[in-house]
Amino acid sequence: MDTGRTFDAGGPTEKCGVVGVSFAERGAALPLYYSLYALQHRGQESAGIVTHDGFQQHGHVERGLVGDAFSQEDLDALNGSAGIGHVRYPTSGGLDRSCAQPFSVSFKSGSLGLSHNGNLVNADELREELENLGHAFTSDGDTEVIAHDLARNLLEEDLIRAVKRTMGRVHGSYSLTIMHDETVLGVRDPEGNRPLCIGKLEDGYVLASESAAIDTLDGELVRDVRPGELVVLHEDGEGFDSHRLVDRENTAHCFFEHVYFARPDSVIDGTLVYEARRELGRRLWEESSVDTDVVMPVPDSGRAFASGYAEASEGVEFAEGLMKNRYVGRTFIMPTQDERERAVRLKLNPIKSTVEGRTVTLIDDSIVRGTTSNQLVALLREAGAEEVHMRIGAPQIVAPCYMGIDMASREELIAADRSTEEIREEIGADSLAYLSVDAVADALGEVREDLCLGCVTGEYPYDIEGEASDREVERPSISESSLPADD
Ligand code: AMP
Repeated sequence: MDTGRTFDAGGPTEKCGVVGVSFAERGAALPLYYSLYALQHRGQESAGIVTHDGFQQHGHVERGLVGDAFSQEDLDALNGSAGIGHVRYPTSGGLDRSCAQPFSVSFKSGSLGLSHNGNLVNADELREELENLGHAFTSDGDTEVIAHDLARNLLEEDLIRAVKRTMGRVHGSYSLTIMHDETVLGVRDPEGNRPLCIGKLEDGYVLASESAAIDTLDGELVRDVRPGELVVLHEDGEGFDSHRLVDRENTAHCFFEHVYFARPDSVIDGTLVYEARRELGRRLWEESSVDTDVVMPVPDSGRAFASGYAEASEGVEFAEGLMKNRYVGRTFIMPTQDERERAVRLKLNPIKSTVEGRTVTLIDDSIVRGTTSNQLVALLREAGAEEVHMRIGAPQIVAPCYMGIDMASREELIAADRSTEEIREEIGADSLAYLSVDAVADALGEVREDLCLGCVTGEYPYDIEGEASDREVERPSISESSLPADD
C-alpha cells in the first residue's frame, strides 16, 4: 500500500477531524474527500484517506490542506466503498514532530486503519508495555498505541470485545474512526470529550467529527455517538449497530469546541454551535455590559458572540470594525511570538468609519497568549477609537489543554498568573471582562460536572500527572486490564 507517507503517524497532541463512510456500492474516496474539506478547520497540517475494496487497503496521506493533498489520480486509486479520513492540526512544536493519519497497519488477522481526534494521557505506559511484548513502533504518537493495542486484542477476541478491551486500557480523550478490513467503526471515549456524530446518506452512512461534514454530503444528522459507544456501520450501507461499551456517570464534553474550535454551523451534543455562541454573547452582556457607541466582533471568532451581546443590549449598534484578510492562516500556525504578532497585523485591518471618534466594545471568544487582543486594541486606538472595552465569551484560560487543543503552556498563557486587571493593563484596554464558568455551563445547557473545564479551572476530568482532578477518575490499571476480558 502506498500511503505516500514520509512522516510519523500520531503525535503528542492531536487536534483533528475524523470521518468514516460505508456505502453499498458507491466509491468512498470522493465523499471522504468532501467531508474532509468540511472539516478543514480542525486541521491544516496533513490530510489522509484509507479505503478498503474488499480485498485490500488503499491509502493516501499527504502534508498540507485537503485541496493540495489529493490529486484526481490519488482519489481514483483509492478503491472501495468503505473508508476513513483524517485532517491533522499543526503541533505548536513545529514540523519535525509532525504526524499524519489515518494510521494503518496490517496484522495476522487483517488490516486496520485508524483516525484519532483527542489525546491519551497514558500512552507512554501502554507503549512501554506493548514494546515489551514485541510491538515495534514507528512514531511517538498515541494513535499508533491504540492501533497496536487493538490489533493485539483482535488476535484473541471478536471485534466488539477487542474494542472494549482497548477502551479499558486507554485513558484520555479519543474520537476514533476505525477501519477493520472493510468494516467502518466509530468510537467515542467514555467521557465524550471530543465530538463525533452519525449521519445517514442516501445510500450509506457516515461518521464525522462534526455534522457540517454530513451536511456537505447532503446527509441527515442521525445523532451524536454516545460517550463510551462503539458504532459499527453495516457494509451494505443500510444501517449501523450500536454497542455501549463503557458507561460513566458524568461526561466531560470540551466546552472549548463550542466556544472556538467547531464550525458554527455544526450541531454538537444536541446544540447548534452558532446558537451556543450567541447565547454565550447574551450572557456576557448580562454579566458585564458596558455602555459604548458600538459593539464589534474580532472576525471571525467573535462574530456570533458579538451578535448575541448586541441583541441582548437592545439597541447598541452592531458593526464590523475590523476587516479580515481571508488569505492569512490561523495565527497559531506561526511558530514564534514575533511571527504571531506580525500575522495579526497581516490578518486584520480597521474600518475607520465605525471606529474613529467612538467608544467601542470589542468581542472575542477567548484570550490565550494575549497577542491578538493586545494588537487589536492598539490597532483600534490608532484608527481613532476613543475607548476600547474588551469582552471575552469564555473564562480566563489559566491552564493547558491535555485533551487535544493547542493551548500553549502555562508560561505562555496570559491568565495563568495574572489578575484580570493586570491583563487589562497588559493588553491596553479601557476595561476587560470574561464570562464566568457557570454562565458557560448554563449557556451550553450542561451542568459543570459534565464538561471538561480543565483549561479554565486547572482541574481536569482525567488523571494527569502533576495536575488536579475535578472528579473520581477511573484510570485503567494497564496490566490488570490486559488480562483476557471475561464478558
Ligand atoms: P491569543 O492571541 O494567543 O490570545 O489567542 C486568542 C485568539 O486566538 C482568539 O482570537 C481566538 O479566537 C484564537 N484561538 C483561541 N484558541 C485557539 C487555538 N487553540 N488555536 C488557534 N487559535 C485560537
